[in-house]
Amino acid sequence: MRTVWVFGDQLNRSIGALADADPDNTTVLMVEGGQLKTGSRHRQRVHFVITAIRRFAAELEDAGFRVDLRTAPTMVDGLEAHRREHTPEVVVATEPNSRAARAMCERLNVDLVRSNQFLCHHDDFARWAAEQGRTRLEDFYRWHRSELGYLMDGNGPAEGRWNWDKDNRQPPPDDTSVFGDPQTSALDDVDHVVLSELGDLHGAEPVGLWATSRQAALSRLRHFVDDVLADFGPYEDAMTTRSWHLAHSLLSPYLNLGLLLPGEVCDRVEEAYREGRVPINSAEGFIRQVIGWREFVWGLYWLWPDHIDQNVLAHHRPIPPVMNGEARTDMRCLQTVLDRLDERAYVHHIERLMVLSNFSNLYGIEPRAVMQWMWDTYIDGAEWVMVPNVIGMGLWADGGRMATKPYVSGGAYIDRMSDFCRDCRFDPKQRVGDDACPFTTLYWDFLARHEDKLRDNHRLARNYATMRRLKDLPEVRSRASEIIKEIEDGAL
Ligand code: SF4
Repeated sequence: MRTVWVFGDQLNRSIGALADADPDNTTVLMVEGGQLKTGSRHRQRVHFVITAIRRFAAELEDAGFRVDLRTAPTMVDGLEAHRREHTPEVVVATEPNSRAARAMCERLNVDLVRSNQFLCHHDDFARWAAEQGRTRLEDFYRWHRSELGYLMDGNGPAEGRWNWDKDNRQPPPDDTSVFGDPQTSALDDVDHVVLSELGDLHGAEPVGLWATSRQAALSRLRHFVDDVLADFGPYEDAMTTRSWHLAHSLLSPYLNLGLLLPGEVCDRVEEAYREGRVPINSAEGFIRQVIGWREFVWGLYWLWPDHIDQNVLAHHRPIPPVMNGEARTDMRCLQTVLDRLDERAYVHHIERLMVLSNFSNLYGIEPRAVMQWMWDTYIDGAEWVMVPNVIGMGLWADGGRMATKPYVSGGAYIDRMSDFCRDCRFDPKQRVGDDACPFTTLYWDFLARHEDKLRDNHRLARNYATMRRLKDLPEVRSRASEIIKEIEDGAL
């Protein structure tokens, strides 16, 4: 007998070592690491991962596999116990999705099968990057889209344009009921057993928002493509207090666990576009996120092993009380987003970037701490997602390897893209005084604080020119110190 070791983010029969496994001579090993159920993780994230593992194990049993699903203190313990009890001739696994897991497999003599969980294997990405001599998202996206053939008419992009971002920056509509309600599934016995085993984790109880089986994830995919996708493009960058989901797909958790595969998701979107059911800007905006951004981030994770250690801006503050649920803030944008995270372990990408990452950078939290916090908290968290997205894109901790300038903004930009500021006690236009928006004050302070590193960045030339004209910059910086102290104390 041989053993196929399946990791908790490879839950799909079509992936790597499982794809051609024969139930007659294969035992499947799955290990629930005991440490998963305690610590600083969001309750819904842990419930989601463990329940999905158990349902997948049951599916494999139904398909005739012998399944050894075991709980162990660590993955290594799980494998060693399995080897003692089952004495397999060989243990194989699909290439795991983290550096640590790959190193562990090599140490433990586990044979690795090339992964097809992503559309662009990281070796192919590395070859592409070497040929290019640089790593630009837009270059990668166009190359990858041409290779895969999505939204292509002959050799060119459908409707003559590669990029429809300009059509996709609408503020939220007045009537957000057009977005409908996300699908949910009733919790069953499997869910309740898992929930009864969880320790003292933070976050609200699950209510069935997140699908935990492939069948339910496929249903979520159908719902998105049929009922939501058409509105995705125009509002993909919008934020509002009136809808937490807008027209976002909510599919990233399933893609990141393997319940859905990126190719099948893009195939459904392409079909909807070709049948005239969704406009090009929505189809392209979505496919760009999957075959562009997501695969780009995956490739960069493997290309840059030292990325995780970067901290060019020398930020060293710990996670402040407001982000740990130990305090509340009057900053409406931030508190709204944190409340949403507590309720669902999810906020959409613009809230992650424009509110959470922006705040973390302006306030100066250590990049690794931000990364770990997001990894623990988001329903779709994974190391390969977090390192490039947080270190590179969100915090510019890599000094510009990934993004040409830090993604920081004051309150005015948040005000333009959302309705958060309407009922906030702060004023996004004010930078000094008690009513000053902390984002605005900290933004100017950030530019001043990092002038030595950023002044030669041509994309910030106008921002620095404006900063130098601010007559009240000393007062702004003094107010910034007060704000930082108040955030530290959980008193803002
Ligand atoms: Fe956020 Fe500032 Fe707007 Fe308040 S005024 S919601 S703190 S950006």
